[in-house]
Amino acid sequence: MTEHILTVAGVAVDTRHWIGGERVASADTFTDVSPIDGSALGEIARGGPAEAAAAVAAAKAAFPGWAATPRAERARILHAVADGVEKRIEELAIVETTDNGALLRSHRRGVMPRVAHNFRFFADWLLTLDHDDFATRGHTNHVSWDPAGPSVLITPWNAPLMLATWKVAPALAAGNTVVLKPAEWSPLTASLLADIAAEAGLPAGVLNVVQGYGAEIGDALTSHPDVRRISFTGSVPTAQRIAASAAPRLTPLSLELGGKSPLLVFADADLDLAVDLAVEQYDNAGQVCLAATRLLVEESVAEEFTRRFVDKATRLRQGDPRDETTDIGPNIHPRQLEKIDGFVRRALAAGARAVIGGHPKDGQYYAPTLLTEVAQDSEIVQEEVFGPVLTLQTFATEDEAVALANDTRFGLAATLATGDRERAERVGAQLVAGTVWINCFFVRDLQAPFGGSRHSGVGREGGTWSFDFYCDLKNTVTAPKGFKDHG
Ligand code: NAD
Repeated sequence: MTEHILTVAGVAVDTRHWIGGERVASADTFTDVSPIDGSALGEIARGGPAEAAAAVAAAKAAFPGWAATPRAERARILHAVADGVEKRIEELAIVETTDNGALLRSHRRGVMPRVAHNFRFFADWLLTLDHDDFATRGHTNHVSWDPAGPSVLITPWNAPLMLATWKVAPALAAGNTVVLKPAEWSPLTASLLADIAAEAGLPAGVLNVVQGYGAEIGDALTSHPDVRRISFTGSVPTAQRIAASAAPRLTPLSLELGGKSPLLVFADADLDLAVDLAVEQYDNAGQVCLAATRLLVEESVAEEFTRRFVDKATRLRQGDPRDETTDIGPNIHPRQLEKIDGFVRRALAAGARAVIGGHPKDGQYYAPTLLTEVAQDSEIVQEEVFGPVLTLQTFATEDEAVALANDTRFGLAATLATGDRERAERVGAQLVAGTVWINCFFVRDLQAPFGGSRHSGVGREGGTWSFDFYCDLKNTVTAPKGFKDHG
């Protein structure tokens, strides 16, 4: 590593912040470690209040110019960012995999193309954002979408660039300027995004990237008086701290949080499809907010479902995520592995049975685990594990299935496997969830609202909902010429 540059598979990544169009170092650093083999990748700038203040100041200074930039020009630059992402898909994919341990083949073929799409989608949607003028007793009402101002975006490590750009793209499209703080366990691709945005012609200060531990730099960002929006994806406890920090200034918040989503398997389902959907929940080593980690299976098919599930799940290949044939990679960090194992050990001590897995493996890997004989009010059923750990419970009636499905403090998503359309509609309507998938999983169109109910979040992202959040909507009412009546 030359000073401030680390290299991952030949790709150079600047380890400093990106503030006001310049690279800025910090006196302190933290070590970024690859979950694949525990090797140190390099030292990353460790920002604090001073870097937060500098980044918000840069975003504030750049805001009037970017907000006044015509929509078509903003859209053109965002398409140029998408072009830059597409040119560097291979580089982004290998850097992300090395940094967070998710599969290289997913990054190459699914995730990074979606990152480019995030920019294209919001650039195009921006150009459709209009509300027809309407009249009130001869007066015209004109609704405008005014950019809100500097926006702080804070993101997690499980899908770093994907989740960051779900926020960066609409915030920039709306005319806001941005301070992005990626997670400290996966800081690298955010730095590459800063390079790509600069090459695409995004003016200095419009996108700023600060690195560091949430506890050290977070509060200075979320309590800053010049910040007009905060969008956060991460855990519930951090969201609670951010909400408290933003409360004195009533800074509007968008919160995308955790989940404990159910997969309901009815006896009339195509069982092979149901098993495929269930096994898919081990993707990204279970580190997916939307994962349906609670399998709720109708009693009459539970034995057959379990047999087929075990047959398929035990054939998954766990190993190096850079290998094209790997199905499950490592978990992100030794602390996360310990957390996962703690949940499982407590569940086993409380009487759960591990049908498969139930233990860590060599390195930073956790055996795909299925636990049965779990009580509805137990920790393992109620709390998010964020690892490859599923529980299986059975139900006898549709009402019981709905009651079990809704009985947690979360409400992010729910998946149903059933061959009966009417049942699907009836059950789907009763579930508390931001997204309900029927005989499918993870189909996500950016036009759709995305978010969670209860402790899974506040607000929705996607399509017009993103612009609702990042804009201050204004209605301008104009009297007809010569009109004198104010009544
Ligand atoms: P986390 O809450 O620990 O950290 C998320 C981010 O918040 C990191 O960048 C971290 O540095 C920052 N942070 C920490 N303390 C802060 C503070 N006091 N002020 C400001 N920022 C602070 O979450 P994580 O472990 O990185 O991510 C896993 C969680 O994210 C899971 O609960 C998962 O379900 C959730 N998640 C939700 C979605 C969704 O869309 N709903 C998507 C992915 C992940």
